[in-house]
Amino acid sequence: ETRRCLVEERVRAFPDFPVPGVLFRDITPLLKDPIAFGAAIDLLEAHLKTSYPQIDCIAGLDARGFLFGPVLAQRLGIGFVLIRKKGKLPGLTESVSYALEYGQAELEIQSDAVEPGQKVVLLDDLLATGGTMSAACELMKKLKAEVLECLVLIELKSLKGAEKLKPFSIYSLLQYD
Ligand code: 5GP
Repeated sequence: ETRRCLVEERVRAFPDFPVPGVLFRDITPLLKDPIAFGAAIDLLEAHLKTSYPQIDCIAGLDARGFLFGPVLAQRLGIGFVLIRKKGKLPGLTESVSYALEYGQAELEIQSDAVEPGQKVVLLDDLLATGGTMSAACELMKKLKAEVLECLVLIELKSLKGAEKLKPFSIYSLLQYD
């Protein structure tokens, strides 16, 4: 479909970034092109409207989830909340640590960001191993919110993030091996 192609044309691949052996998918050209960016938001909006008529809010993952989340939430007439790297949010927070390739990282959310029972869609630019998104799901569990779906623009299929995320479901606009 045409709109998917518009999006795909605006994702660049950089070999050996941030470390040798990694092919980094760069979404900055997408943000720079209002037509392609609009197409991406249209597609995500249409998907959520047909699949989940009752979403309470979108939770975006630090940092590139913040680029798409608020725009999408505005389209749907719902709120946007932040899942941040540790130490950035004031007030009471919940946090979850997760393993990186080398070492550990921690995601954090404000304790009052979502209410128990609220239906949340988690959003990021890209799913690789699924470690980051799994940690975000854990945060939702701590706040007793319901994860309707994990949503990304790009899924790197060969890293099997979808398996790591089970039983949560993942939806992606673009898939690469
Ligand atoms: P994971 O935890 O699934 O292994 O990695 C996903 C996280 O790392 C996401 O927050 C994503 O933004 C970032 N990431 C990993 N690889 C890439 C990449 O190739 N391109 C982009 N844009 N982000 C990536």
